[in-house]
Amino acid sequence: MTRGTALLIATHGTEDQKKKYMEKILSGKWTGTMVLTEAGAGSDLGATRTKAERNQDGTYSIAGSKMLITGGDTDLTENIIHFVLARVKGSPAGIEGLSLFLVPKIRVNPDGSLGEPNDVKTISIEKKLGLKGSPTCHLNFGEEGSCIGELVSKENHGLPIFFTMMNESRLISARHGSAVASTAYLHALAYARERLQGTEIGAPRDSGQVPIIKHPDVRRMLLQMKAYTEGVRILILYASYCIDRERMSQSKEERQKWESRTSFLTPVAKAYGADMGFRVTETAMQVHGGYGYMKDYPVEQFLRDAKAHSIFEGTNGIQALTLTGRNLGQDSEGLFKGHLEDIDKFCKSNRKHQTLAGYVEILETAKMRCLTCRSFLSTCIRRISRSCPLRHPIPGAFWRRNCRLVAYVAGGYCPGPADSTGSRKWD
Ligand SMILES: Cc1cc2nc3c(=O)[nH]c(=O)nc-3n(C[C@H](O)[C@H](O)[C@H](O)COP(=O)(O)OP(=O)(O)OC[C@H]3O[C@@H](n4cnc5c(N)ncnc54)[C@H](O)[C@@H]3O)c2cc1C
Repeated sequence: MTRGTALLIATHGTEDQKKKYMEKILSGKWTGTMVLTEAGAGSDLGATRTKAERNQDGTYSIAGSKMLITGGDTDLTENIIHFVLARVKGSPAGIEGLSLFLVPKIRVNPDGSLGEPNDVKTISIEKKLGLKGSPTCHLNFGEEGSCIGELVSKENHGLPIFFTMMNESRLISARHGSAVASTAYLHALAYARERLQGTEIGAPRDSGQVPIIKHPDVRRMLLQMKAYTEGVRILILYASYCIDRERMSQSKEERQKWESRTSFLTPVAKAYGADMGFRVTETAMQVHGGYGYMKDYPVEQFLRDAKAHSIFEGTNGIQALTLTGRNLGQDSEGLFKGHLEDIDKFCKSNRKHQTLAGYVEILETAKMRCLTCRSFLSTCIRRISRSCPLRHPIPGAFWRRNCRLVAYVAGGYCPGPADSTGSRKWD
């Protein structure tokens, strides 16, 4: 979160803001937070009620109540820089009227030294299922009418600016999901090699207990965990590779190409990473049997921690909704089709490949299913929008399944992105 706030200032802050805040944040002296959620505004940020009122000196007075704020308060650092989403008096309703404010916990003097407290009150630390090492707080801004914030960029540009940070945060969330999954898998593997129970299938009764890894059902669980963990990892690596290519692009066309791959893959990687992270930790608990459910082993903590990833940085339902816009919406030509073209190119060059041919066939079948699913959903949307009497079940019920399918196909393709020409040696 703190890194993301530094990125936000670097990209959208004034020279003065960069000078005042960046070094302290990047050196770890101060931390940063992302302050969006309110009791009545979670996924629906358009319902934000926190207000900002312009002061004569160009600053803004902030007033409102925010909840579930990661790192909302701590005494580990001397200051916290909150990035608060609020509506300036007179701005339009909905997300178009939101602006972004930089609100320090302790005011910062022009020379960078600390001033007075800034009327930011910590009402409570939320009582969470997991992630106990991070204080998630309910904060009140401007209870006494003296909370001062600085505008970042322009009024009513809050949400697009936040997305500078959100796309990165979404991939970070996917990385956390993948890291927890990976460690849960390794713990399960170690346990399965040590835990003695039952005899091997087909062995004489008195042949003695064997490690549970010898049992086919346990091996199945371990292999599934390994496959999901590696699938998520490769998807994240590919999304990150697209970001690198976008940043290093030499021409407008090239930048647009990689930008569209990033936009398409970020919600997929986030939702898939979070969902699979949780599923893998749940399987790790199963491998541990009853001991896994107890606090003696760390998997119960992994399971509690992993769940949050499908809820924050936009719930997985919202990621699936975002993907639907990118998959089926007006921009889908450049986004979805561009991605499919990459896959086609890769398949074409590797159809006769000694090692990859069998996998390429599976990938092509999966890609066709993805296209069928997309065309089914498009038909549903068209029928609903034309109020056709023969209505399909509401297609929104399938967004998440569609997102999962896209993730499987994207993950299946990922080994080849750096070399869609097929010249890489795979053997
Ligand atoms: C551990 C943790 C840390 C957090 N840290 C922060 C933080 O630092 N800063 C911050 O601002 N917030 C933070 N949050 C809050 C988080 O971003 C919100 O919980 C999240 O945006 C969802 O909002 P909500 O809880 O109000 O759920 P709701 O928006 O009420 O959603 C409930 C359910 O309805 C679904 N839903 C809602 N609207 C739609 C729709 N239009 N289409 C389809 N499905 C929909 C959701 O997918 C979800 O399944 C944190 C949350 C947690 C758990």
